Amino acid sequence: MRRAFVAGNWKMNLNRVEALALVAGLKAEVAGESRIDVGVFPPFVYIEAVAAAVKGTKIILGAQDCWHEAKGAFTGEVSPGMLLDVGCTQVILGHSERRHVIGEPDELIAKKTKAALAAGLKVILCVGETLEERKGGKTHDVLKTQTVKGLFDLAPADLAKVVIAYEPVWAIGTGVNATAAQANEAHEFIRGLLAGKFGKAASEAMTIQYGGSVKAENAAELMAEPHVDGALVGGASLKADQFLGIVRNTIKAKGL
Ligand code: PEP
Repeated sequence: MRRAFVAGNWKMNLNRVEALALVAGLKAEVAGESRIDVGVFPPFVYIEAVAAAVKGTKIILGAQDCWHEAKGAFTGEVSPGMLLDVGCTQVILGHSERRHVIGEPDELIAKKTKAALAAGLKVILCVGETLEERKGGKTHDVLKTQTVKGLFDLAPADLAKVVIAYEPVWAIGTGVNATAAQANEAHEFIRGLLAGKFGKAASEAMTIQYGGSVKAENAAELMAEPHVDGALVGGASLKADQFLGIVRNTIKAKGL
């Protein structure tokens, strides 16, 4: 059975004191959580401090992005090896803010994905359509392009180290989440794409998170869907009680 995963993408929020207070709050409840995976993705500069705080717990630590080269003249960038060096085991790639605010194309995201996996990081690859694309009936086309370009060049053994986050752009940070049915439909579509390329077993094993205005209050309904295997959480991951509420409701909805 695939594993549920609730991950907190802190984006460019919190200072050092706040980051450590948040981790302390999470540790009080999920330090030893083994029914689902729970992870935090702080800004680069707080990764080492958070790594020290989560050491010895089951809390997963990751970064919000990386570059695709191991080292060199890439001012401002951070390599997969550097992330491993400071305690990360995972990295988020292709987040909608990287795609739409910073302008990263699928080809760059695919390079980053390959480099991160080759270095030994696991990857959360984000995909999702804009409101305009959904209204224009293009959701499946967009998901197909992003999934194919992002993952179809991978070896099956590498695909097993990837989690997909379906994050409709219109739902991120807006307070308007996709309905449970919309999320499940998109996840099932993505799973079908994977089955066509990598086979049914690989596609059934893939954890597909939903992301976009997930809160403790709507998590139970979303997580009850059969193809929704957890959440990538932005705003609600900045408050321990909210994030823990999502974790609790995921465990309950999955009957774990
Ligand atoms: C995100 O940034 O991945 C996200 C889903 O944000 P929010 O939960 O705030 O919508």
